[in-house]
Amino acid sequence: MSFAATVLTLYPEMFPGPLGISLSGRALEKGLWSLEARNIRDSATDRHRSVDDTPSGGGPGMVLRADVLARAIDAASPAGDDRPRLLMSPRGRPLTQALVRELAGGPGVVIVCGRFEGVDQRVIDGRGLTEISIGDYVLSGGEIPAMVLIDAVVRLIPGVMGKESSGTEESFSEPLLEYPHYTRPAEWEGRAIPDILVSGDHGRIAKWRREQALKLTRERRPDLLRGPDRD
Ligand code: SAH
Repeated sequence: MSFAATVLTLYPEMFPGPLGISLSGRALEKGLWSLEARNIRDSATDRHRSVDDTPSGGGPGMVLRADVLARAIDAASPAGDDRPRLLMSPRGRPLTQALVRELAGGPGVVIVCGRFEGVDQRVIDGRGLTEISIGDYVLSGGEIPAMVLIDAVVRLIPGVMGKESSGTEESFSEPLLEYPHYTRPAEWEGRAIPDILVSGDHGRIAKWRREQALKLTRERRPDLLRGPDRD
């Protein structure tokens, strides 16, 4: 069974978008994963098909209604669906490569994309949504965050990446940033490729890359070296 992503959004036309291109797009065509974007508005019941209302207690903006969203979730993910239900949210658990790996090993995801000021707390509680954040900044909707999550997960699905090794050597598969890459031409604007990379000595190359990765990590992200708790 392939990885199944269902996205609940007010803008289903945003999908597959960038996910339909290159690595993830080819994998989608091959059936290595599937994507369904469902319009939350289809679950509205009133004449105006309204999905949001003003915040209780006052304040700016609008809030996605619990009843409408719950109906959308129930239709997309009926009882027995064992995929995790996620809500993209700036106050959520940070998306890390560890979490990406965990999700890639599962049956898929059901992702709710917020809009406006966010969603009614009761649907988060009532439908057991896990909030996931892609970083400490605020976007205007959950669609781009959902694409970020799906892109990161899909490339780890077996068969999606050309070389299996490219998933295990890169940044964060260990708590290290990746070493620098080079390719031809051998010299460009007076800058040469480091000799060692053209030496053909694979042992020394591996050692050099590891040293470079450590150096970069120490300089840029010392927090990654500090312990097992990397989430
Ligand atoms: N008022 C909210 C922000 C709402 S932004 C607050 O202050 O927390 C509108 C929607 O965009 C959110 O419901 C969420 O789905 C999405 N979103 C914005 N920033 C995000 C982030 N960093 N990570 C994940 N989702 C985000």
